[in-house]
Amino acid sequence: MTVVGILGGGISGLSCAYYLKTLGQSKIKYIALLDKSPKFGGWIQTTRFPDGATFEHGPRTLRSGSKSGYNALVLADQLALSSRILPITREHPIAKTNFVLANNQLNPLPNVSSLIRKVPPFSKSMIRYVFRELMTKRADLTDESVYSFAERRIGEEIAKYIFDPMCRGIAAGDARELSVRSMFPFLYEAEKNYGSVVKGFTNENRSATASEFLYCDLVKKAYNEIWRMWTLKTGLGELIDALACTVEEQGKIDLIFNAECTSLTFKDGKVEIIADNENIKVDHVFSSIPSHELGILLNAYPTLAENLLAIPSVDVAVVYLEYENDIIKENSGFGYLAPSFEDSKVLGIVFDSCCFPELNGISMTRLTCMIGGRWFKDMFGDPDSVSEDTLLQISMEEVGKRFNTTDKPIRHKVLIQRKCIPQYVIGHHLKLEKIDEEIKKNNLNLSLIGASYKGAGVPDCIYNSKLSVEKYLKSL
Ligand SMILES: Cc1cc2nc3c(=O)[nH]c(=O)nc-3n(C[C@H](O)[C@H](O)[C@H](O)COP(=O)(O)OP(=O)(O)OC[C@H]3O[C@@H](n4cnc5c(N)ncnc54)[C@H](O)[C@@H]3O)c2cc1C
Repeated sequence: MTVVGILGGGISGLSCAYYLKTLGQSKIKYIALLDKSPKFGGWIQTTRFPDGATFEHGPRTLRSGSKSGYNALVLADQLALSSRILPITREHPIAKTNFVLANNQLNPLPNVSSLIRKVPPFSKSMIRYVFRELMTKRADLTDESVYSFAERRIGEEIAKYIFDPMCRGIAAGDARELSVRSMFPFLYEAEKNYGSVVKGFTNENRSATASEFLYCDLVKKAYNEIWRMWTLKTGLGELIDALACTVEEQGKIDLIFNAECTSLTFKDGKVEIIADNENIKVDHVFSSIPSHELGILLNAYPTLAENLLAIPSVDVAVVYLEYENDIIKENSGFGYLAPSFEDSKVLGIVFDSCCFPELNGISMTRLTCMIGGRWFKDMFGDPDSVSEDTLLQISMEEVGKRFNTTDKPIRHKVLIQRKCIPQYVIGHHLKLEKIDEEIKKNNLNLSLIGASYKGAGVPDCIYNSKLSVEKYLKSL
């Protein structure tokens, strides 16, 4: 029986605790989970106003359809959250309408119906890009930027108007810097295995991806109805509450708030964790804290620390705006993304009230503007010196322009999320290889989980915690 420490109580740390308890009942004697903040959830925090209007400070939807997506649904089911889920299916109009800002206009992104029609801002129909992609020879590169991959294989317009804004939407990052191999492994593998992304998609076996999870009725439903994404009836904070309550009820675990780990010492096969007033000795530690924080704690291992600290992350301002009337009108959709070269100060805006009207309160429009990311410092300098008012004004002006409205928000909230999204830049996989090698070489009883390494989406974080727990339990 072993004693385990978990650093960080975001989705990765909490799901790690859950899997240790459920998969390792006979092997785990005690778990200490420490978080430096006064509440669990990490970036997953939900504010619910008294009228029911809901504002997500971080993630708002979990994607379905991949292994990690199905696994997250299994977890939701095991936490008795099935009846709490609000899904968006493939057929839902919202799932079909995403906008991209081009030449100061919101343009719906092309879908199947525009395969043979030319739609702005593209100068060709999508089918011509499909043919070009099929004709492009495989390049044996070990990694390249998302932008150059898309430009090389599909064409410049697709790189500019689809992949550039998509990287801003997913990672608040620059498609010219982010790694295609680490950000979009499916695309990278499709070229390697089939010589083409289109062939990769046509060879994709939906049922094989879902097969190991189809024992779960909720997954079966999501699979049959082709869910794209989901949230919960009072927002994603529910997932955190359910996880924390469940692991606590299972016993033999302490969830400790306000406990910042300031030292980690590996000695004689044990790990000593010092966190504020706690001094805990464990057999193994799972770290879900960001790599840039863990790197500081591991300065006794310079190469390991150097590689952990080399994973950059960016600041994002999240500005929530509520308008009494429907200002979105005919532009109803998931939201829009602004490519990096467009005249816009936002990365994009999510139309929360269209996605989940169930989470509206008294007002008809809820929007969330994302600002900054990779460009935060260029735009504003030191994040500590930017006023909330500046960010609010930028957001209101952007909304005014896009929806042609002079309406003022009746409620708003501005948050600056510091170093909140890791950037998997070109060569990210090499850093991970070096980190693994150093952990082995130094014989550290340490497992790395969390958004810094192998996927920052919430389902990826949950799935990677599960895989990491399984690997650890096997080693015992
Ligand atoms: C604005 C925003 C929007 C997003 N949107 C989406 C989305 O729509 N869908 C999606 O799937 N994903 C989205 N993401 C990504 C996703 O939310 C995160 O990647 C994920 O929540 C990270 O979880 P984590 O547990 O790995 O890390 P974190 O949430 O960062 O948790 C780490 C925890 O460690 C604690 N900690 C740090 N240092 C120490 C220390 N020294 N000692 C003790 N504790 C410490 C922190 O307090 C924190 O609670 C978004 C992220 C952001 C920021």
